[in-house]
Amino acid sequence: MSKIIVLIGAPGAGKGTQARLIQERLKLPQISTGDILRARAEAADPLAGEIRALQAAGKLVPDDLVIRVVQERTAREDCRDGCVLDGFPRTLAQAAMLEQLAADQRKDIIAVALDVPFEVLEKRTTGRRSCPVCGELYNIYFKPPKSDETCDRHRGVKLVIRADDSEEKVRVRLKTYEQETRPLLDYYEKSGRLRRVDGTKEREIVYQELEEIIKEG
Ligand code: AMP
Repeated sequence: MSKIIVLIGAPGAGKGTQARLIQERLKLPQISTGDILRARAEAADPLAGEIRALQAAGKLVPDDLVIRVVQERTAREDCRDGCVLDGFPRTLAQAAMLEQLAADQRKDIIAVALDVPFEVLEKRTTGRRSCPVCGELYNIYFKPPKSDETCDRHRGVKLVIRADDSEEKVRVRLKTYEQETRPLLDYYEKSGRLRRVDGTKEREIVYQELEEIIKEG
């Protein structure tokens, strides 16, 4: 039976990084609701403005909108053998909707928590920078560019900070995680579908653990 892999973790836990590796190596499409919503927010209509404001404030976008996005994306042909959800579900209402969707599509859900302590999450998010040309990711604490705040591959191109990675917004996002998303751990634990991975380990080690879970699950 094909699987829907759900990565649960606070901002900075490594969901995006690991989801990209899973996509590359196991050929399960990465579905990042954050990325999809950021792209949708670039349009010039009122809905785009609403999404932009919520994302910039570090607040969650309404459930019904995100649910529609996920329904539409998971129904595509490339998700036939499963997919990896990066950033969804983030509320119990979204988790309930995912149960229905998985049942309709005859897929199993495997939830994996990426555990990372608060202090590391703060540095991973507020230190995050990216190249606006190639998208290469850096971190001023853990993976600094060779020369001050510019891309190693694109000399002279100044790295950018995601609007919601400022200290103030990160605080809001971490609080939202605690209130809205952390209860999902209990939810999946109770139905015996939760696996836990130490997200502070090196990226390749975390990936190997995830791959094992996906293959055996
Ligand atoms: P991310 O890139 O996953 O950190 O998401 C960035 C922002 O997109 C979040 O702070 C929310 O504003 C919005 N977002 C992403 N996924 C969801 C979701 N499942 N439910 C509600 N809002 C979301």
